[in-house]
Amino acid sequence: MARLDNKIALVSGGARGLGAATCHAFVREGARVAIADIDLAAAQKLAGEIGASAKAYALDVTDEGAWDRVVAQVVADFGGLTTLVNNAGIGHLASVEDCTFEQWRAVLAVNLDGVFLGTRAGIRAMKSRGGGSIINISSVYGIVGSELTAAYNASKGGVRNFTKSAALHCAKSGYEIRINSVHPSFILTDMVTGAAGKLADPQAFLTALIERHPLGRLCEPADVAHACVYLASDETRNQTGIELVVDAGYIAQ
Ligand code: NAD
Repeated sequence: MARLDNKIALVSGGARGLGAATCHAFVREGARVAIADIDLAAAQKLAGEIGASAKAYALDVTDEGAWDRVVAQVVADFGGLTTLVNNAGIGHLASVEDCTFEQWRAVLAVNLDGVFLGTRAGIRAMKSRGGGSIINISSVYGIVGSELTAAYNASKGGVRNFTKSAALHCAKSGYEIRINSVHPSFILTDMVTGAAGKLADPQAFLTALIERHPLGRLCEPADVAHACVYLASDETRNQTGIELVVDAGYIAQ
């Protein structure tokens, strides 16, 4: 038996970065995956690379109606939904003084509204079908702050505690649905390299970043994918409302 045999997973923002690594890892462990992304072409490309165990869906996580449609389609295509990774997210570099209200709302819409809408749609699909596991991708920046990421900190802190509320609701409702958050530190995906590229000296930023990680290295997408495999598997049947930190020691200091 592989660790995720018989699991059917939807990964939002699954077309690239941490989401794509998670899709690959899930399929390696026996799951079938719905790669749901605002960039349908990229999701289709990844599904083509993975093969018959993957299918691509267009999903903007801020669109309430789209969640209902996509989840219903995944259930129809695969015969159910056991696992949901609310991974789609956007970064934004601005202090509280520099952040416009428009930017604030855009970050909160994707990173927090998207996780709420996804979690609610996931619960509705799972509760009458034997339960499941919902994994919300927060960040170390949902636990500690940075002066440069006001909206991002707010969104990821929101995901952290919203996850506990939803986990408690499911537990106390008698649903076999576990909901946990994952908190990665900096990983060199498009999100981070894109932000670093706007700085005056990206190489100095990278060097300083590595120095802030006690293990002396950055995490990689596969590290987060492994954490998601663990939380998706029945090995964690008694873990709900937890925060799983994947950070090379970043917030232990
Ligand atoms: P990425 O930019 O490499 O990939 C994000 C994916 O989400 C893309 O495929 C993009 O098309 C998709 N997406 C963006 N907006 C969307 C929307 N509205 N609806 C659906 N899909 C959408 O980012 P990543 O680094 O892989 O980040 C994935 C998650 O991990 C995010 O929630 C991010 O905040 C979190 N995270 C990343 C890091 C890091 O250092 N990379 C650290 C901690 C947490």
